[in-house]
Amino acid sequence: MDPRELRRDFPLLEAQPDLVFLDSAASAQKPRAVTEALTRFYETAYANVHRGSYPLSEAATEAFEDARRTLAEFLGTPDPEEVVFVRNATEGLNLLAHSLSERFLGPGDLVVVTEMEHHANLVPWQQAARRKGARIRAVPITDEGRLDPAAFERLLAEEPRIVALTHMSNVLGTVNPVADLAERARAAGAIVVVDGAQGAPHLPVNVRALGADFYATSGHKMLGPTGASALWGRRALWEELPPFLTGGGMIERVTIEESTFAPPPTRFEAGTPPFAEAVGLAAAARYLAAVGMENVWRHDRALVERALAALAEVPDLKVFGPTGPDRGGVVSFVFPGVHAHDLATFLAQKGVAVRSGHHCAQPLHRRLGVAATARASFYLYNTEEEVDRLAEALREARRFFATWIE
Ligand code: PLP
Repeated sequence: MDPRELRRDFPLLEAQPDLVFLDSAASAQKPRAVTEALTRFYETAYANVHRGSYPLSEAATEAFEDARRTLAEFLGTPDPEEVVFVRNATEGLNLLAHSLSERFLGPGDLVVVTEMEHHANLVPWQQAARRKGARIRAVPITDEGRLDPAAFERLLAEEPRIVALTHMSNVLGTVNPVADLAERARAAGAIVVVDGAQGAPHLPVNVRALGADFYATSGHKMLGPTGASALWGRRALWEELPPFLTGGGMIERVTIEESTFAPPPTRFEAGTPPFAEAVGLAAAARYLAAVGMENVWRHDRALVERALAALAEVPDLKVFGPTGPDRGGVVSFVFPGVHAHDLATFLAQKGVAVRSGHHCAQPLHRRLGVAATARASFYLYNTEEEVDRLAEALREARRFFATWIE
Protein backbone atom coordinates (compact mmCIF):
# COMPACT_ATOMS: atom_id res chain seq x y z
CA MET A 1 0.00 0.00 0.00
CA ASP A 2 1.53 3.28 -1.13
CA PRO A 3 -0.06 6.37 0.45
CA ARG A 4 1.39 8.60 -2.28
CA GLU A 5 -0.60 6.65 -4.86
CA LEU A 6 -3.74 6.59 -2.72
CA ARG A 7 -3.56 10.38 -2.27
CA ARG A 8 -4.37 10.76 -5.96
CA ASP A 9 -7.83 9.43 -5.14
CA PHE A 10 -8.42 12.31 -2.71
CA PRO A 11 -9.13 15.57 -4.59
CA LEU A 12 -8.75 17.81 -1.53
CA LEU A 13 -5.31 16.42 -0.72
CA GLU A 14 -4.30 16.73 -4.37
CA ALA A 15 -5.44 20.35 -4.42
CA GLN A 16 -3.56 21.21 -1.23
CA PRO A 17 -0.25 19.35 -1.51
CA ASP A 18 1.39 21.41 1.25
CA LEU A 19 -1.28 20.63 3.82
CA VAL A 20 -0.26 18.02 6.39
CA PHE A 21 -3.70 16.79 7.37
CA LEU A 22 -3.42 14.95 10.69
CA ASP A 23 -7.02 15.17 11.90
CA SER A 24 -8.68 12.08 10.44
CA ALA A 25 -9.78 10.92 13.90
CA ALA A 26 -12.17 13.90 13.81
CA SER A 27 -13.27 13.25 10.22
CA ALA A 28 -11.55 11.67 7.24
CA GLN A 29 -11.05 13.10 3.76
CA LYS A 30 -13.14 11.59 0.95
CA PRO A 31 -11.92 9.65 -2.05
CA ARG A 32 -13.38 10.47 -5.46
CA ALA A 33 -15.12 7.06 -5.41
CA VAL A 34 -17.32 8.34 -2.59
CA THR A 35 -18.15 11.79 -3.92
CA GLU A 36 -18.79 10.32 -7.38
CA ALA A 37 -21.10 7.64 -5.98
CA LEU A 38 -23.06 10.36 -4.19
CA THR A 39 -23.28 12.59 -7.25
CA ARG A 40 -24.21 9.67 -9.52
CA PHE A 41 -26.97 8.62 -7.15
CA TYR A 42 -28.39 12.15 -6.86
CA GLU A 43 -28.20 12.71 -10.61
CA THR A 44 -29.47 9.36 -11.87
CA ALA A 45 -31.27 7.34 -9.23
CA TYR A 46 -32.72 9.70 -6.64
CA ALA A 47 -36.19 9.19 -5.16
CA ASN A 48 -37.40 8.41 -1.64
CA VAL A 49 -36.95 4.79 -0.58
CA HIS A 50 -39.46 2.22 0.71
CA ARG A 51 -42.36 4.45 -0.35
CA GLY A 52 -42.91 4.73 -4.09
CA SER A 53 -44.01 1.88 -6.34
CA TYR A 54 -42.60 3.56 -9.47
CA PRO A 55 -39.32 2.29 -10.94
CA LEU A 56 -37.12 5.19 -9.79
CA SER A 57 -38.12 4.69 -6.16
CA GLU A 58 -37.67 0.94 -6.50
CA ALA A 59 -34.17 1.48 -7.91
CA ALA A 60 -33.30 3.86 -5.06
CA THR A 61 -34.60 1.33 -2.53
CA GLU A 62 -32.49 -1.36 -4.13
CA ALA A 63 -29.39 0.89 -3.94
CA PHE A 64 -30.10 1.60 -0.26
CA GLU A 65 -30.56 -2.09 0.57
CA ASP A 66 -27.46 -2.90 -1.44
CA ALA A 67 -25.57 -0.40 0.75
CA ARG A 68 -26.85 -2.30 3.79
CA ARG A 69 -25.48 -5.54 2.33
CA THR A 70 -22.10 -3.88 1.66
CA LEU A 71 -21.83 -2.57 5.21
CA ALA A 72 -22.89 -5.95 6.63
CA GLU A 73 -20.11 -7.59 4.64
CA PHE A 74 -17.61 -4.93 5.70
CA LEU A 75 -18.46 -5.52 9.36
CA GLY A 76 -18.46 -9.29 9.04
CA THR A 77 -22.09 -10.27 9.52
CA PRO A 78 -23.89 -12.54 7.05
CA ASP A 79 -27.21 -10.90 7.99
CA PRO A 80 -27.70 -7.43 6.40
CA GLU A 81 -30.80 -6.87 8.53
CA GLU A 82 -28.55 -6.66 11.56
CA VAL A 83 -27.34 -3.31 10.19
CA VAL A 84 -29.31 -0.18 11.02
CA PHE A 85 -28.47 3.12 9.31
CA VAL A 86 -28.17 6.09 11.64
CA ARG A 87 -26.61 9.52 11.11
CA ASN A 88 -23.44 9.07 13.15
CA ALA A 89 -21.89 7.11 16.01
CA THR A 90 -23.48 9.51 18.50
CA GLU A 91 -26.98 8.78 17.22
CA GLY A 92 -26.26 5.03 17.22
CA LEU A 93 -25.10 5.09 20.83
CA ASN A 94 -28.07 7.25 21.89
CA LEU A 95 -30.39 4.78 20.18
CA LEU A 96 -28.79 1.90 22.10
CA ALA A 97 -28.77 3.72 25.45
CA HIS A 98 -32.44 4.57 25.02
CA SER A 99 -33.74 1.28 23.69
CA LEU A 100 -31.58 -1.04 25.80
CA SER A 101 -32.41 0.85 28.99
CA GLU A 102 -36.14 0.78 28.20
CA ARG A 103 -36.00 -2.99 27.81
CA PHE A 104 -33.28 -4.13 30.21
CA LEU A 105 -32.44 -1.50 32.84
CA GLY A 106 -34.15 -1.06 36.21
CA PRO A 107 -33.55 0.67 39.56
CA GLY A 108 -30.19 -0.22 41.09
CA ASP A 109 -28.90 -1.94 37.94
CA LEU A 110 -25.33 -1.28 36.89
CA VAL A 111 -23.97 0.09 33.62
CA VAL A 112 -20.20 -0.20 33.19
CA VAL A 113 -18.33 2.23 30.94
CA THR A 114 -14.63 3.08 30.87
CA GLU A 115 -12.58 6.10 31.83
CA MET A 116 -11.40 6.49 28.24
CA GLU A 117 -14.86 6.90 26.66
CA HIS A 118 -15.75 9.65 24.23
CA HIS A 119 -18.74 11.60 25.61
CA ALA A 120 -20.85 9.90 22.91
CA ASN A 121 -20.47 6.60 24.77
CA LEU A 122 -20.85 8.10 28.22
CA VAL A 123 -23.47 10.86 28.34
CA PRO A 124 -26.28 8.75 26.76
CA TRP A 125 -25.68 6.06 29.42
CA GLN A 126 -25.73 8.69 32.17
CA GLN A 127 -29.09 9.93 30.89
CA ALA A 128 -30.46 6.38 30.64
CA ALA A 129 -29.20 5.52 34.13
CA ARG A 130 -30.82 8.67 35.53
CA ARG A 131 -34.16 7.83 33.89
CA LYS A 132 -34.11 4.26 35.21
CA GLY A 133 -32.53 4.82 38.63
CA ALA A 134 -29.55 2.72 37.56
CA ARG A 135 -25.90 3.18 38.53
CA ILE A 136 -22.94 3.91 36.30
CA ARG A 137 -19.31 2.98 37.01
CA ALA A 138 -16.17 3.33 34.92
CA VAL A 139 -13.27 0.92 34.45
CA PRO A 140 -10.21 3.04 35.32
CA ILE A 141 -7.12 3.20 33.13
CA THR A 142 -3.56 2.39 34.11
CA ASP A 143 -0.78 4.97 33.93
CA GLU A 144 0.17 3.55 30.50
CA GLY A 145 -3.33 4.26 29.21
CA ARG A 146 -4.80 0.76 29.13
CA LEU A 147 -7.93 -0.49 30.86
CA ASP A 148 -7.18 -1.93 34.30
CA PRO A 149 -8.06 -5.65 33.94
CA ALA A 150 -8.43 -6.29 37.67
CA ALA A 151 -10.84 -3.37 38.04
CA PHE A 152 -12.79 -4.69 35.05
CA GLU A 153 -13.15 -8.07 36.79
CA ARG A 154 -14.27 -6.41 40.02
CA LEU A 155 -16.99 -4.51 38.18
CA LEU A 156 -18.11 -7.68 36.36
CA ALA A 157 -18.52 -9.35 39.75
CA GLU A 158 -21.30 -6.80 40.38
CA GLU A 159 -23.19 -8.28 37.42
CA PRO A 160 -23.71 -5.21 35.23
CA ARG A 161 -26.63 -5.28 32.78
CA ILE A 162 -24.67 -3.35 30.16
CA VAL A 163 -20.96 -2.89 29.44
CA ALA A 164 -20.19 -0.07 26.99
CA LEU A 165 -16.61 0.42 25.86
CA THR A 166 -14.62 1.86 23.02
CA HIS A 167 -12.74 -0.28 20.52
CA MET A 168 -10.00 2.33 20.17
CA SER A 169 -9.47 5.48 22.23
CA ASN A 170 -9.68 8.71 20.23
CA VAL A 171 -7.12 10.32 22.57
CA LEU A 172 -4.69 7.59 23.65
CA GLY A 173 -4.87 5.38 20.57
CA THR A 174 -5.29 2.38 22.86
CA VAL A 175 -6.95 -0.58 21.15
CA ASN A 176 -8.89 -2.45 23.79
CA PRO A 177 -8.89 -6.26 23.70
CA VAL A 178 -12.59 -6.26 22.88
CA ALA A 179 -12.95 -9.94 22.01
CA ASP A 180 -11.60 -10.97 25.41
CA LEU A 181 -13.47 -8.28 27.37
CA ALA A 182 -16.74 -8.96 25.55
CA GLU A 183 -16.51 -12.68 26.22
CA ARG A 184 -16.00 -12.10 29.92
CA ALA A 185 -18.71 -9.45 30.15
CA ARG A 186 -21.24 -11.62 28.33
CA ALA A 187 -20.34 -14.57 30.57
CA ALA A 188 -21.17 -12.28 33.51
CA GLY A 189 -24.60 -11.65 31.95
CA ALA A 190 -23.99 -8.21 30.45
CA ILE A 191 -25.01 -6.86 27.05
CA VAL A 192 -21.86 -5.51 25.39
CA VAL A 193 -21.91 -2.31 23.36
CA VAL A 194 -18.77 -1.31 21.47
CA ASP A 195 -18.09 2.22 20.28
CA GLY A 196 -16.34 1.46 17.01
CA ALA A 197 -16.08 5.08 15.81
CA GLN A 198 -12.27 4.81 15.78
CA GLY A 199 -12.18 1.02 15.33
CA ALA A 200 -14.03 0.47 12.05
CA PRO A 201 -12.00 3.03 10.03
CA HIS A 202 -8.64 1.64 11.08
CA LEU A 203 -8.86 -2.02 12.12
CA PRO A 204 -10.15 -5.11 10.36
CA VAL A 205 -13.49 -5.62 12.12
CA ASN A 206 -15.49 -8.79 12.22
CA VAL A 207 -18.36 -8.29 14.61
CA ARG A 208 -19.03 -12.01 14.90
CA ALA A 209 -15.40 -12.67 15.91
CA LEU A 210 -15.39 -9.71 18.31
CA GLY A 211 -18.32 -11.32 20.09
CA ALA A 212 -19.98 -8.12 21.30
CA ASP A 213 -23.74 -7.48 21.04
CA PHE A 214 -23.68 -4.08 19.34
CA TYR A 215 -21.05 -2.17 17.37
CA ALA A 216 -21.50 1.52 16.50
CA THR A 217 -19.53 3.02 13.62
CA SER A 218 -19.02 6.55 12.37
CA GLY A 219 -19.35 6.78 8.58
CA HIS A 220 -17.60 10.12 8.13
CA LYS A 221 -14.47 8.84 9.92
CA MET A 222 -14.20 5.87 7.53
CA LEU A 223 -14.09 7.91 4.30
CA GLY A 224 -17.88 8.12 3.98
CA PRO A 225 -19.98 11.26 3.66
CA THR A 226 -21.39 12.93 6.75
CA GLY A 227 -24.87 11.79 7.74
CA ALA A 228 -24.80 8.00 7.43
CA SER A 229 -23.30 5.36 9.73
CA ALA A 230 -23.85 1.67 10.25
CA LEU A 231 -25.00 0.40 13.64
CA TRP A 232 -24.68 -3.35 14.00
CA GLY A 233 -26.50 -5.51 16.55
CA ARG A 234 -27.40 -9.14 17.05
CA ARG A 235 -30.72 -9.90 15.41
CA ALA A 236 -32.17 -11.57 18.53
CA LEU A 237 -31.53 -8.42 20.55
CA TRP A 238 -32.80 -6.03 17.87
CA GLU A 239 -36.06 -8.05 17.85
CA GLU A 240 -36.53 -7.40 21.56
CA LEU A 241 -35.84 -3.68 21.55
CA PRO A 242 -38.39 -0.88 21.42
CA PRO A 243 -37.73 1.94 18.93
CA PHE A 244 -35.80 5.11 19.69
CA LEU A 245 -37.24 7.58 17.19
CA THR A 246 -40.83 7.07 16.07
CA GLY A 247 -42.93 8.27 13.14
CA GLY A 248 -43.16 7.41 9.48
CA GLY A 249 -41.60 4.34 7.94
CA MET A 250 -41.07 2.34 11.14
CA ILE A 251 -44.65 1.25 11.92
CA GLU A 252 -46.89 -1.70 11.15
CA ARG A 253 -50.32 -0.39 12.10
CA VAL A 254 -51.31 2.96 13.55
CA THR A 255 -54.58 4.04 15.17
CA ILE A 256 -55.21 7.31 16.96
CA GLU A 257 -54.50 5.62 20.29
CA GLU A 258 -51.55 3.35 19.54
CA SER A 259 -49.15 1.80 17.06
CA THR A 260 -47.31 -1.42 16.40
CA PHE A 261 -43.83 -1.36 14.99
CA ALA A 262 -42.10 -2.89 11.98
CA PRO A 263 -39.45 -5.55 12.47
CA PRO A 264 -35.79 -4.51 12.57
CA PRO A 265 -33.97 -2.84 10.92
CA THR A 266 -36.93 -0.71 9.74
CA ARG A 267 -38.16 -0.26 13.35
CA PHE A 268 -35.04 1.79 14.04
CA GLU A 269 -35.08 3.92 10.88
CA ALA A 270 -37.89 6.40 11.46
CA GLY A 271 -38.46 9.05 8.84
CA THR A 272 -36.57 9.36 5.58
CA PRO A 273 -33.30 7.55 6.19
CA PRO A 274 -29.96 8.93 4.95
CA PHE A 275 -30.15 6.71 1.88
CA ALA A 276 -28.03 8.77 -0.52
CA GLU A 277 -25.37 9.06 2.19
CA ALA A 278 -25.64 5.30 2.79
CA VAL A 279 -24.87 4.74 -0.90
CA GLY A 280 -21.81 6.99 -0.46
CA LEU A 281 -20.82 5.10 2.67
CA ALA A 282 -21.04 1.80 0.80
CA ALA A 283 -18.60 3.24 -1.77
CA ALA A 284 -16.27 4.12 1.13
CA ALA A 285 -16.53 0.59 2.55
CA ARG A 286 -15.75 -0.89 -0.87
CA TYR A 287 -12.77 1.46 -1.23
CA LEU A 288 -11.40 0.44 2.20
CA ALA A 289 -12.01 -3.25 1.48
CA ALA A 290 -10.14 -2.94 -1.83
CA VAL A 291 -7.15 -1.34 -0.06
CA GLY A 292 -7.48 -4.01 2.62
CA MET A 293 -8.09 -3.21 6.28
CA GLU A 294 -5.03 -5.24 7.29
CA ASN A 295 -2.97 -2.90 5.10
CA VAL A 296 -4.64 0.20 6.56
CA TRP A 297 -3.89 -1.02 10.07
CA ARG A 298 -0.27 -1.90 9.24
CA HIS A 299 0.21 1.53 7.68
CA ASP A 300 -1.33 3.35 10.70
CA ARG A 301 0.92 1.29 12.97
CA ALA A 302 4.06 2.15 11.01
CA LEU A 303 3.23 5.86 11.11
CA VAL A 304 2.45 5.88 14.81
CA GLU A 305 5.65 4.00 15.64
CA ARG A 306 7.61 6.55 13.62
CA ALA A 307 5.77 9.41 15.33
CA LEU A 308 6.30 8.01 18.85
CA ALA A 309 10.02 7.59 18.18
CA ALA A 310 10.37 11.10 16.73
CA LEU A 311 8.25 12.80 19.40
CA ALA A 312 10.22 11.09 22.18
CA GLU A 313 13.22 13.09 20.92
CA VAL A 314 11.45 16.45 21.29
CA PRO A 315 12.55 17.87 24.65
CA ASP A 316 9.79 18.64 27.19
CA LEU A 317 7.04 17.14 25.02
CA LYS A 318 4.70 14.95 27.03
CA VAL A 319 3.12 12.21 24.91
CA PHE A 320 0.14 10.19 26.14
CA GLY A 321 -0.96 6.62 25.50
CA PRO A 322 0.63 3.19 25.47
CA THR A 323 3.49 1.90 23.38
CA GLY A 324 3.07 -1.52 21.84
CA PRO A 325 1.09 -3.28 19.13
CA ASP A 326 -2.20 -2.31 20.81
CA ARG A 327 -1.72 1.30 19.79
CA GLY A 328 -3.45 2.84 16.77
CA GLY A 329 -2.63 5.95 14.74
CA VAL A 330 -3.53 8.62 17.28
CA VAL A 331 -0.98 10.62 19.29
CA SER A 332 -1.93 13.24 21.86
CA PHE A 333 0.68 15.49 23.44
CA VAL A 334 1.34 18.71 25.37
CA PHE A 335 4.20 20.97 26.31
CA PRO A 336 3.51 21.54 30.02
CA GLY A 337 2.59 25.21 30.49
CA VAL A 338 1.60 25.75 26.85
CA HIS A 339 -2.09 25.61 26.07
CA ALA A 340 -2.94 22.95 23.50
CA HIS A 341 -4.82 25.54 21.41
CA ASP A 342 -1.69 27.72 21.20
CA LEU A 343 0.36 24.71 20.19
CA ALA A 344 -2.18 23.68 17.53
CA THR A 345 -2.27 27.26 16.20
CA PHE A 346 1.51 27.26 15.91
CA LEU A 347 1.44 23.91 14.08
CA ALA A 348 -1.28 25.24 11.77
CA GLN A 349 1.04 28.10 10.79
CA LYS A 350 3.53 25.41 9.73
CA GLY A 351 0.88 23.75 7.59
CA VAL A 352 0.19 20.92 10.03
CA ALA A 353 -3.50 20.41 10.88
CA VAL A 354 -4.06 18.79 14.28
CA ARG A 355 -6.94 18.98 16.71
CA SER A 356 -6.71 20.49 20.19
CA GLY A 357 -9.03 20.43 23.18
CA HIS A 358 -10.48 17.69 25.34
CA HIS A 359 -11.59 15.71 22.26
CA CYS A 360 -14.98 15.02 23.90
CA ALA A 361 -13.23 13.01 26.63
CA GLN A 362 -13.21 15.22 29.73
CA PRO A 363 -13.04 12.43 32.35
CA LEU A 364 -10.03 10.99 30.52
CA HIS A 365 -8.26 14.36 30.43
CA ARG A 366 -8.98 14.79 34.14
CA ARG A 367 -7.28 11.41 34.70
CA LEU A 368 -4.33 12.52 32.56
CA GLY A 369 -4.06 15.68 34.64
CA VAL A 370 -4.42 18.12 31.75
CA ALA A 371 -7.32 20.30 30.57
CA ALA A 372 -6.53 19.76 26.92
CA THR A 373 -4.14 18.05 24.54
CA ALA A 374 -3.11 18.49 20.92
CA ARG A 375 -3.79 15.40 18.83
CA ALA A 376 -2.32 14.15 15.58
CA SER A 377 -4.13 11.28 13.90
CA PHE A 378 -3.06 9.30 10.86
CA TYR A 379 -4.87 7.54 8.07
CA LEU A 380 -4.16 5.66 4.88
CA TYR A 381 -3.27 8.81 2.89
CA ASN A 382 -0.65 10.07 5.36
CA THR A 383 3.04 9.60 4.61
CA GLU A 384 6.22 9.18 6.62
CA GLU A 385 7.30 12.64 5.41
CA GLU A 386 4.21 14.12 7.01
CA VAL A 387 5.09 12.49 10.32
CA ASP A 388 8.57 14.00 10.00
CA ARG A 389 7.06 17.41 9.29
CA LEU A 390 4.98 17.11 12.46
CA ALA A 391 8.12 16.29 14.47
CA GLU A 392 10.04 19.18 12.89
CA ALA A 393 7.17 21.61 13.59
CA LEU A 394 7.12 20.42 17.21
CA ARG A 395 10.85 21.05 17.55
CA GLU A 396 10.27 24.58 16.25
CA ALA A 397 7.32 24.98 18.65
CA ARG A 398 9.55 24.02 21.53
CA ARG A 399 11.99 26.79 20.64
CA PHE A 400 9.14 29.27 20.12
CA PHE A 401 7.42 28.49 23.44
CA ALA A 402 10.66 27.90 25.39
CA THR A 403 9.96 30.54 28.04
CA TRP A 404 6.42 29.23 28.65
CA ILE A 405 7.30 25.60 29.21
CA GLU A 406 7.04 24.56 32.85
N1 PLP B 1 -16.73 7.78 19.69
C1 PLP B 1 -15.46 8.06 19.46
C2 PLP B 1 -14.39 7.21 20.07
C3 PLP B 1 -15.11 9.16 18.65
O1 PLP B 1 -13.83 9.45 18.42
C4 PLP B 1 -16.17 9.94 18.10
C5 PLP B 1 -15.87 11.14 17.28
O2 PLP B 1 -14.94 11.86 17.53
C6 PLP B 1 -17.48 9.58 18.34
C7 PLP B 1 -17.74 8.49 19.15
C8 PLP B 1 -18.64 10.34 17.75
O3 PLP B 1 -18.70 10.08 16.38
P1 PLP B 1 -19.76 10.80 15.44
O4 PLP B 1 -19.13 12.10 15.01
O5 PLP B 1 -19.95 9.87 14.30
O6 PLP B 1 -21.00 11.01 16.22
